[in-house]
Amino acid sequence: MEKIIQQFLDEVKQRNQNEPEFMQAVTEVAENVIPYIVKNDIYYGQNILLRMVEPERVVFFRVPWIDDQNEIKVNRGYRIEMNSAIGPYKGGLRFHPSVNLSVLKFLAFEQVFKNSLTTLPMGGGKGGSDFDPKGKSDKEVMRFCQSFMSELFRHIGPNRDIPAGDIGVGGREIGYLFGQYKRLKNEFTGVLTGKGVSWGGSLIRPEATGYGVVYFTQKMLENIGTSLEGKKVVLSGSGNVAQYAAEKVIQLGGIVNTLSDSGGYIYDRDGINSEKLKYIMDLKNIKRGRIEEYIKQYPTAEFHAKKTPWEIPCDVAIPCATQNELHKEDALMLIKNGCVCVGEGANMPSTPEAIHEFTVNKILFAPGKASNAGGVAVSGLEMAQNSLRYNWTRDEVDTRLKNIMSDIHQSCVEYGQEDGYVNYVKGANIAGFVKVADAMLAQGVV
Ligand code: GLU
Repeated sequence: MEKIIQQFLDEVKQRNQNEPEFMQAVTEVAENVIPYIVKNDIYYGQNILLRMVEPERVVFFRVPWIDDQNEIKVNRGYRIEMNSAIGPYKGGLRFHPSVNLSVLKFLAFEQVFKNSLTTLPMGGGKGGSDFDPKGKSDKEVMRFCQSFMSELFRHIGPNRDIPAGDIGVGGREIGYLFGQYKRLKNEFTGVLTGKGVSWGGSLIRPEATGYGVVYFTQKMLENIGTSLEGKKVVLSGSGNVAQYAAEKVIQLGGIVNTLSDSGGYIYDRDGINSEKLKYIMDLKNIKRGRIEEYIKQYPTAEFHAKKTPWEIPCDVAIPCATQNELHKEDALMLIKNGCVCVGEGANMPSTPEAIHEFTVNKILFAPGKASNAGGVAVSGLEMAQNSLRYNWTRDEVDTRLKNIMSDIHQSCVEYGQEDGYVNYVKGANIAGFVKVADAMLAQGVV
C-alpha cells in the first residue's frame, strides 16, 4: 500500500514542482483515500484521484490599479476551478501577500471535499490575489476590487463559478466586487456570496464559519459524553472566523482565553466575555487595529508578541488564523497541558506532524474541511435563497447550519471509525471523496 501511495505522490509531485502546500493537502487525502479505492472495486483502476488533483481550469491575470499617491501598482489575480462534478465551482477569494499558486491550489483542493461534505450541490474552486488590504484606504481597496473583477467577471457566473470571501475579503470587498460585476454584466444575480443582507445576502453568513466550527466541536465533545460548558478554550486569529467562534463558545458556556493576530496573542485568564469581544470586533472590523491594543483597554490581560497561543493550558483548541500555524511542538504542548479536543476553524492550520501527534494520542481532532464547512454551507443556502428570490429568517438559517454540521459529523463518524476512536481526518477525506468520485464516474471521462 505504502508503495502505491508513494508512486501516486511522486507522479503528482513531478507535475507540480514547488507547490508545498498543495502537495501537503494531496498527501493527506491520498493516504486515506488510496487504501479505500484499492478496497472498493468501483473506484479501482479509474485514475479517479489523479483526475481530482488536476484543476479543471486555472486562470491567472494582471490586476493594475492606482493608489492614493497616484502611483500605478500591479498585482496578480487567480481563479482555480478545481472540480465541478457535483455543482458549479464554489469557494472564496483570498487577498493576502502570501497568496500564490500552491496556496490557492491547496485551498481549492480542500474546498472540493469540504463542499461535498456539506451535502449541498457545490463543486470546488478558490481564487484571490497577492494584494495586501492591510493599511490600504477604502478607495484603494475599491479600485483594486474593480480592477480584479474587470477580468474575473468573464470566468464566473451564478451557474458557473460563485466566489465569496476568505482571508482579506469580507463584506466591504464583496460589495465592491459585486458592484463591478453588476455594472459589467448589467445583471443582478447571485454570482457572489457573503453579500449584504439588503442586497441578496443571507442572515448568519458572517457568523457561519465561526458558529459552524463550534457546533462541530460541541458534537465531538457530545460524542464522548461531555460538552463545552465550563471548558477553557484557546482560540487563534481575530478575524471573521475567530470572532464568531468566540461568540458561540461564550454562548455555550465555554471560557475564551486567547485570540491573536500576526503581531502575537492576548491571554485573558478571566475569559474574554461578550463585552470584551464587542471591543475586539470594533477594534478589528471598524478601526482595523491590532489585537495588542486589547491590553490598554483591559490591563489585567497579557500580550505575547510574535507568539501563538498554544502554550496556554486549555481543554479545547480552535485554530482560526491560517495554514500551518500549529506545529508538532505546539501539539505536544497542548496534549501535555490536558487539551482533549481540537476543531480547526482555518483551512489546514495544523501541520501533518501536529496531526500525527493528535491522532496517536487519540485527541478529538477535526480537520478544517469538515469543521469549518459552515461558512460555505451558508453560502450554499445564500445561493438557494437567491434562486428562490426569498430570504429565510435567522432561525431558519441557523437551524439548517446546525443540521449540516451535525450531518458532517455523522459522515466523519461513519467513515472514520477505528476501534472506538473516530479518525475525523480519514472520515472527512473518504466521505468527501465518495460523493465526488461517484458523480465523476457517472459523467464519464470528461
Ligand atoms: N472561504 C470560505 C471557505 O474556506 C468560504 C467559501 C465560500 O463561502 O464560498 O470555505
